[in-house]
Amino acid sequence: MSTQKTDQLHRFLFSEAHIRGELVQLSESVKAMLDTKAYPPCLQTLLSEMMLATSLLTATLKFEGEISLQLQCEEGALKYALINGNHQQQLRGIARWDGELSDESFSEIVGKKGVLAITIMPKKGQQYQGIVALDKPSLAECLKGYFEQSEQLATEIVLHTLMTEKEVKAAGMLLQALPQSDTSHQKQNDTFEHVAHLTKTITKAEITELPVEEILHRLYHQEEVRLFDPVDVSFSCTCSQEKVNQAIASLPTEEVRNLLDERGKISTSCQYCFAEYKFTEEDFQNILGDAQPNSSKLH
Ligand SMILES: [Zn+2]
Repeated sequence: MSTQKTDQLHRFLFSEAHIRGELVQLSESVKAMLDTKAYPPCLQTLLSEMMLATSLLTATLKFEGEISLQLQCEEGALKYALINGNHQQQLRGIARWDGELSDESFSEIVGKKGVLAITIMPKKGQQYQGIVALDKPSLAECLKGYFEQSEQLATEIVLHTLMTEKEVKAAGMLLQALPQSDTSHQKQNDTFEHVAHLTKTITKAEITELPVEEILHRLYHQEEVRLFDPVDVSFSCTCSQEKVNQAIASLPTEEVRNLLDERGKISTSCQYCFAEYKFTEEDFQNILGDAQPNSSKLH
């Protein structure tokens, strides 16, 4: 099969029916995330699917900001799995588990007490959180149910991960009906049902290996589809010394003072990429200076 550029997100539109679509194909970005730990196979697939879903959801943001998908489990070996992505399609993720896991299914990993939260964090404005019911056998079906119930938007989601010894290929699609006036509602519903049905017929090999134009042609050649320019997707951690300093600056000054007196410096590492950061007496003095802009300007 032909090789094409992966780690890209493609948006498309069924022009007549007002249905939006996204297709994301990932390889290097998923591999880079999975390489940070020796994940058991079922968690590799879970993290890959969560990364695809986060990329697809992040692409629906109408503002600058971040989306995180956090799966928290109270029973079983998985403690949590977390993916975080921003409007620039920079994604990162991590999972923590304790005990034996190999090729468990989504339902088996999640158990009866698993909770999946979608958090939307605009750069400006209020943070929003939604809870996804985990009552279906796959992540894709649970997310579809969430959008149809809580957002009242007809939605179709497919997520596929193809794992070989050498590489990971993952791909996902999202279709969503755009809000419409009542008159064209029935026509949109009919078209949505039709294209959603077609979307589900795509195989794992097709969606992960074929170029986007060919996938769209195979599935929807009877529809009018407009394809937009792709956006690059990357595994990238957005942690920085500045963010660490900001987080420490938000703690009570006395607490920071005590920690510095005790240890000389505060060491911390990023939970996603394990980068090490140090916060020293000098950083502390800078923060104190920033906190009193008037006095520093006067002298
Ligand atoms: Zn990091």
